[in-house]
Amino acid sequence: MVLDISTAHGAMTGKRYLQSLNDGREVWLDGQRVPDVTQHPAFTGVVHELARIYDLQHSDQYRDRMTFVSSETGNPCSMSWLLPRSIDDLKRKRANSELWNRECWGQFGRSPDILAPYIITLYDAREALSSMKHPKCDFGENAVNYYRYCAENDLFLTHALGDPQVDRSEQPQNEQRLALEEELALHVVEETNEGVIVSGGKQLATAAPISNECYVSLSATFVRRADPRMVLAFYIPTNSPGMKILCREPASQYPDGYGHPLAMRYDEQDAMLFFDHVLVPWDRLFMLYDASPQLQRLGAGINFIGWANLCRVHQRMRLLTAVATLIAEAIGVIEYREVSAKLGEMATYCEVWRHAMDGIEYNSFMTPGGLMSLGDQAGMNMYFSQTSARMVQLLREICGAGLIMQPSENDLASPELRPYLERYMRGKGVDVDYKSRLYRLANDLAVSSFGMRQEVYEYWHAGDPNRNRINLMRTFNQQDITERIKALLAQPLSHS
Ligand SMILES: Cc1cc2nc3c(=O)[nH]c(=O)nc-3n(C[C@H](O)[C@H](O)[C@H](O)COP(=O)(O)OP(=O)(O)OC[C@H]3O[C@@H](n4cnc5c(N)ncnc54)[C@H](O)[C@@H]3O)c2cc1C
Repeated sequence: MVLDISTAHGAMTGKRYLQSLNDGREVWLDGQRVPDVTQHPAFTGVVHELARIYDLQHSDQYRDRMTFVSSETGNPCSMSWLLPRSIDDLKRKRANSELWNRECWGQFGRSPDILAPYIITLYDAREALSSMKHPKCDFGENAVNYYRYCAENDLFLTHALGDPQVDRSEQPQNEQRLALEEELALHVVEETNEGVIVSGGKQLATAAPISNECYVSLSATFVRRADPRMVLAFYIPTNSPGMKILCREPASQYPDGYGHPLAMRYDEQDAMLFFDHVLVPWDRLFMLYDASPQLQRLGAGINFIGWANLCRVHQRMRLLTAVATLIAEAIGVIEYREVSAKLGEMATYCEVWRHAMDGIEYNSFMTPGGLMSLGDQAGMNMYFSQTSARMVQLLREICGAGLIMQPSENDLASPELRPYLERYMRGKGVDVDYKSRLYRLANDLAVSSFGMRQEVYEYWHAGDPNRNRINLMRTFNQQDITERIKALLAQPLSHS
């Protein structure tokens, strides 16, 4: 069976996106099943913001920048799905990613633009996937067909990689943990003519309640399984029968009047996934029982993941820096040497990141699969998980107590309070309305539950930073310099 694209319309519209979410998906929030996420206050802000950006794909202003014409169907398709075959294509994809992230201020960890490159990576690895034989399907063909299906329908995807956080005292590959693991880790229960039946849990999937499909696989931490039934990767529609989606506490809802400009629009949600005998059709599987060739192939320096996340980080860095600058101006501290130096430190991070992005583009290369990949970017995620926390702290240091002490919109509208607010809560050359709203934006970056969730996201989203650092250390080539040091030390260190 091949995923059907005959009725596909290409680049998503806001209306189509909103309609696609009302599909019977089993979303749970605070003990209640959510009948329609587009009508629930925890989600309305974020889904309408996504709908707004989707509509830009069809606007005269951005159509050319955000879409390309499919050679197969003639549909206008999102630039996120363009298979890059040249540096010029990479530049076009960068321009699209920059636009997505400019529109959302770099706040969507899981915008539709972020996950498209995963499928492009699978497409690129199609030959390696096909080499993993299974009598019921060809994983490489599945990857090609799934890519077409996503591109022509402009699906919004997320992913779920990790195991539930129940007991990390032993690693998954240890045989003695198998019984416990079988209840927890996602695994194949049985094969049927239609596909495989899977059960188990996944922690966690950002944006699962508001996306169309989820890529379910193994994270680097969990790849070495003792039992092959736990080695599998597939894509599955969000409304698949048997899949429960449990949301965390929303960060989008505050009492009336305390407008949070980012939380209102960008709380993308995070969710546990519980699979209870869920059918995964054969044409949606990319890996089953045997991880080795795919993992080798996918680990061989393919970096399509790059632009969306790199542009997101850049926007977020620039937002943090610009808000800190405007606040320093608004309270008259920008000329102080200490404050300027802190702003200069923030600007340094922005500039280093921008230079690194240019370097990654400069080092792009043609893959054996025939696509143009960005250059190596090992280290970038660790760099940002460190600098993000530092930048948020610098913002807090520049803001002072105003970060938490601002009037609400209802306070601003109160005739009785207004004279006091105008007198005591204005800034240097700015009125109280501007100053309080600016500070509430800073609050959403550095204090609010939304801001804290973003901060936790930056630290963890690329996996355990310590594991990533260790992996980088293991592959970091120092041979030349260590040999030169040894040669230096082979001689007596005398002055004569
Ligand atoms: C906001 C947010 C969004 C996310 N979105 C997604 C998503 O969309 N999709 C997705 O797949 N994942 C997502 N993640 C999950 C993320 O990838 C994980 O948080 C990350 O891989 C760490 O795993 P963990 O949370 O299970 O922590 P754990 O692995 O349980 O780590 C807890 C602590 O134990 C330590 N530890 C654990 N194991 C070992 C060990 N063997 N040796 C030494 N120390 C150890 C860790 O260093 C850490 O200090 C998200 C996470 C967050 C916070």
